[in-house]
Amino acid sequence: MIVVLRPNVTEDQIGNVVRMVEQLDYRAHIIRGVERTVVACVGEERGEHQLEHLEALAYVERVLPVLRSFKLAAREVRPEGSRINVGGVEIGGRRLTVIAGPCAVESREQVEAAADGVRCAGAHLLRGGAYKPRTSPYAFQGMEAEGLGLLEAAGKRVRLPIVTEIMDPHDIDLFVEHADMLQVGARNAQNFSLLRRLGRIKKPVLLKRGMSTRLEEFLMAAEYILSEGNPNVVLCERGIRTFETATRNTLDLNAVPLLKEWTHLPVIVDPSHGTGIWSLVTPMALAAVAAGADGLLIEVHPNPQAARSDGPQQLKPERFAELMKSVAAVAGAVGRTL
Ligand code: PEP
Ligand code: MN
Repeated sequence: MIVVLRPNVTEDQIGNVVRMVEQLDYRAHIIRGVERTVVACVGEERGEHQLEHLEALAYVERVLPVLRSFKLAAREVRPEGSRINVGGVEIGGRRLTVIAGPCAVESREQVEAAADGVRCAGAHLLRGGAYKPRTSPYAFQGMEAEGLGLLEAAGKRVRLPIVTEIMDPHDIDLFVEHADMLQVGARNAQNFSLLRRLGRIKKPVLLKRGMSTRLEEFLMAAEYILSEGNPNVVLCERGIRTFETATRNTLDLNAVPLLKEWTHLPVIVDPSHGTGIWSLVTPMALAAVAAGADGLLIEVHPNPQAARSDGPQQLKPERFAELMKSVAAVAGAVGRTL
């Protein structure tokens, strides 16, 4: 259930509602929207009709049920959509956000060259994996803490906040100290202990869709983070596994407008992992923007042929610059900016 408060409600009145909700054995989450403050009540669904009695209060406008299984992620709690601040860069809203950089940090020279390339082309956030989730234990696993340090230094130099993947909840303090946004990769999309742990920090989380998670399951994964108290979640569609093997994954662009209907969380698209083929990245990036995505995640490497992971899908900086020009044109056509 959500309790929608009247526009001029006071802090004391919000506190009263929270207390009454908690007395009914629900957890109360205060969500401050642009026009309305809402108290979302989550818990096992008992005593719903008692919550409805809150409508008798003069400062309560309505008490509404949230029928879907995801409660805090539901569009109803924040109809205008969430905007997530990542080191001063906002995701959500009219302007698109582009996250770009190499699949993995491989050396100082490599990450610095990638940072220059993506900064020059107009990206808003720099990415790079330091702890890599690889299918084979014999493959390059990332530069780990050293890689994180190199990414941080590159981001500082080009003045872009950084995004990087966390795999192990034990590393969380290190990531909180050095990264601006923590990515949960497709392979950990339903690692509930990691998600819960990320719910107890305030740093924004980029949650990627698992390769076989349904959209409802994807939002329930986000709900794990939200329900622990971290409201800063951005969703990323990165392709799902289907019978088709001509591409690495099948980029599910249906997900974009459907998620935008179901949730207030920003939705970005990763056509690099979604296709696995560099020549398909720009066309699918344009399609994603046309479908209503709030941003893109694009892998960019100064020399993709020499990349230690995901070489075939990474763009050279020059091609990324061309992608950005085409994205700006499509953005304009659909009422967005870059
Ligand atoms: C990545 O972003 O480099 C990555 C490993 O992505 P995914 O988890 O979507 O495969
Ligand atoms: Mn990758």
